[in-house]
Amino acid sequence: MHLLEERIRQDGIVLKGDVLKVDSFLNHQMDAALFQAMAEEWKRRFENCEINKILTIEASGIGLSCVAALTFSCPVVFAKKTKSSNLDEDVYRTEVRSYTHNSTYDVIVSKRFLGPEDKLLLIDDFLANGAALSGLMELAAMAGARVIGAGIAIEKAYQPGGDLLRKRGLRIESLARIGSMDSGRITFVP
Ligand code: 5GP
Repeated sequence: MHLLEERIRQDGIVLKGDVLKVDSFLNHQMDAALFQAMAEEWKRRFENCEINKILTIEASGIGLSCVAALTFSCPVVFAKKTKSSNLDEDVYRTEVRSYTHNSTYDVIVSKRFLGPEDKLLLIDDFLANGAALSGLMELAAMAGARVIGAGIAIEKAYQPGGDLLRKRGLRIESLARIGSMDSGRITFVP
């Protein structure tokens, strides 16, 4: 998606550890008009797919998902980060390894908000090693929900997550695919 690539070129900052900082339009300050254009692009790509719910992960996926939910006319559920405890029987729970913090955390979704009737679009801001998307897929599987596909804003295509998950059969629609960020220079791949 040309508009998003241009914005990344203009405002993205490459940090140590293969982290792209896009907090001026995506992760902290949010450009809602850009989010709307992104949502419309996902809608175009998932045209005629029967999506009845969006599932995302706290926190950066929430803003994008709310705008997308208006376009798809469906509710959004976000997997909540939580302190580890297996006592609550009313939730689906799984563990996710954080790319940016290099630690693991638990995420939960209430059993009330995810079930076999759901046909899900997973949404997240970044795809790197695939841990966040895998976690969402696990929650969906526990609930018996169907995953139609994933909408990703920025895929770092030189990292393994995209290939791994596509091999597992997940349809992933990434709006910008970064081919490399060597020496702070960002290049895109189709
Ligand atoms: P994965 O789970 O695929 O390894 O990484 C995706 C998650 O890590 C996203 O939810 C995102 O919050 C975070 N992430 C991964 N790479 C980056 C990055 O380059 N920049 C930012 N801002 N977040 C990232």
